[in-house]
Amino acid sequence: MMSHRLTLPARISRLLLIGIAALLPVAVTTPIVYWQESTRLRQQATRQTALAETTLDLILDYASQAADTVAPLTNQPCTQIVQALRKQVTIVPFIRSLTLERGGILYCSSLFGVYHRQISSPVKSRPETELHLKSGNELTPGRPLIIYRKQSGPTAIYIAIDGLHLQFSLDMASDYNPVYMRVGPLWIGPDHAVHPTPSPPFDLLTIQRTSSRYPYTLVSGFNRRDLYHQMAISYKLVFLSMAALGLALAVWLRWQLSRPASPAADLQRALDNWEFETFLQPVVRTDGLGWQGAEALMRWRHPRDGLINPDLFIPYSEDCGMIVPMTRKMMHQLARTLEWSQLPPQFHLGINITAAHLRDDALLVDCQQFLTHFPPGKLNLVLELTEREVLEPTFEVRERLARLRELGVKIVIDDFGTGHSNLAYLQQLPLDGIKMDKSFTASIGADTPSSHIVDSVTELAHKLKLEIAAEGVESEAQRVYLTRLNVGWLQGYLFARPMPLREFLQCPELAAARAAASVNRLPRDD
Ligand code: C2E
Ligand code: CA
Ligand code: CA
Repeated sequence: MMSHRLTLPARISRLLLIGIAALLPVAVTTPIVYWQESTRLRQQATRQTALAETTLDLILDYASQAADTVAPLTNQPCTQIVQALRKQVTIVPFIRSLTLERGGILYCSSLFGVYHRQISSPVKSRPETELHLKSGNELTPGRPLIIYRKQSGPTAIYIAIDGLHLQFSLDMASDYNPVYMRVGPLWIGPDHAVHPTPSPPFDLLTIQRTSSRYPYTLVSGFNRRDLYHQMAISYKLVFLSMAALGLALAVWLRWQLSRPASPAADLQRALDNWEFETFLQPVVRTDGLGWQGAEALMRWRHPRDGLINPDLFIPYSEDCGMIVPMTRKMMHQLARTLEWSQLPPQFHLGINITAAHLRDDALLVDCQQFLTHFPPGKLNLVLELTEREVLEPTFEVRERLARLRELGVKIVIDDFGTGHSNLAYLQQLPLDGIKMDKSFTASIGADTPSSHIVDSVTELAHKLKLEIAAEGVESEAQRVYLTRLNVGWLQGYLFARPMPLREFLQCPELAAARAAASVNRLPRDD
């Protein structure tokens, strides 16, 4: 009977919650992994540049050593020292050529011997040691080389180191991320070519390390994309586990959410959020005036289970002691809607009241407040007291009923015939009418013992001058039969099923009943 239908907002927020649970483990893990991996990469880049510095300094140390060996000979003519230059080139690792310069003129070379080539106009003060990065020279045009220059008195010693040595050092140091070497305005990187500065940027972290001994700088770092790539590779298992955990969490949460809460908690929430709706079912007069009344029947629009019929929650809310506040709120809402509605005069509005409510002093106040919304003659409040519950006709109960009647409230015994009523009971209680249970209406036409009860109940009611209503009228035969017995009011699917309040107020039968009442000028009930 309970359909598993959720309202759209409830469904969306449930899905959202489950989605958050599914993503939570990965979402929590990601920043931690990000921090860990970026720390690791930073340390690695620092290590890489330190390693590159060590090997590059070592290579340059050889050049410096060769320069120191040649320096004392530079006051001699080239022809005498060219052999010594060639010897250095042969025995010292990494160096390719050795050239001497004086006054801007290259005059002695390990390669060409004596020669004369103007390279620059003499500069007054230059640092003692210089490094120059070149993309090539006449002999090896496409091959980068680094020139180590050392000033020794008026002579400068130029030592060429093959770029390949630099390259190997940089390549060796470059692990995940490349290491660049910057010399003056130029740099050399993993593509083995010389470029002008600035060196390509790293978008996440850049580490610079300037050699303490030679004028060059090493640059390394990493890009965001590399970091994500590393995270995906190194933490693949972690992420997979977290995704599995998220999935498990989502499944668990889904199960938790679809599990019914404890019925009492469910009902309390329903009361707090007012998930109840009032339906009205017309109560029809048999004298041809039509819909002159209605019964208020509660429905629970459960966020998960959809519309629930009262049989499933009213008994429970009685047990939990919630029926009184529920009825009170329903009456309040009904009053606020009906006070602005056009109803036939003296409209009978039936409200189901439980024994618990009747024992409550507040019932009188609730009814009083309800009636203040209506001008005299507009609406008759009818309290239907079910006969299924034992209602002791104590002095207190009679007192209370009497005071309610003084307010103009009508008292009717509901489900009449199913319980404990007897003639004495009916006489002891101050009543206005009885409502015959639908099981008797259903028996009309069948030749069963209960079919005769309809006749005797009606007769009894007439004798006691009580109004009589019949519920559960589903067929035309039942209507005719009950009308012939002078049953004043009928209610059942034959006329209409219970419907939402707004829908009821728009029914043309209601307007017709209003018109009929104004033509006939309904006799007053009192
Ligand atoms: P009830 O007071 O006897 O209300 C009449 C019930 O008969 C309603 O069931 C109504 O829908 C149903 N009914 C009407 N015409 C026909 C018909 O032609 N054939 C058949 N088979 N049934 C018909 P509903 O709405 O499911 O209510 C069930 C019971 O729940 C009510 O019985 C009443 O005892 C209780 N109830 C409903 N609303 C409230 C409320 O606000 N307060 C209290 N205390 N009880 C309520
Ligand atoms: Ca009823
Ligand atoms: Ca009934």
